[in-house]
Amino acid sequence: MPNNAIQLWSPDTCGCVIHLAYDDRLPATERTFTYVTEAQAEAIVKARRDAGERNINPNPQPPAVLCAAHTPHGFTASLLSQVMEENQRKNITFGQAQQLIPALKVENYNWSFDNNRVLQVSFTGVAVNQNQRNNLQSAMDIQFGPGLIKIK
Ligand SMILES: [Zn+2]
Repeated sequence: MPNNAIQLWSPDTCGCVIHLAYDDRLPATERTFTYVTEAQAEAIVKARRDAGERNINPNPQPPAVLCAAHTPHGFTASLLSQVMEENQRKNITFGQAQQLIPALKVENYNWSFDNNRVLQVSFTGVAVNQNQRNNLQSAMDIQFGPGLIKIK
């Protein structure tokens, strides 16, 4: 089935705003999301407006946004891959940190990406010893390859 609906994604890891196309006739658990440009998103929604569907948003699609860090990707599918990879890297690192540091809560987990998109992780408000930091660094280096995450 062709995609017939649009969802916007604004990740918490950067300022990009990305249009994702999916098929809203499928149950939520079976939907897959595909990168589309703002123009493609508008065309998908316009087709439904033109077909007379009343519950379709009459306003133009919100603009797609390319953050400064992801400008080299342009508005392409590789943008989605990169943004998704960074978002998952941040979330998976938190999940692994929680396993190694049982007292860790989300508010103790500080993260940012440096200019090379290396994930920088530190902790506040929870006791984390050097052994736990080393174990987390090793686990992340194995999972993602060395140099993508820096546990401080
Ligand atoms: Zn971005």
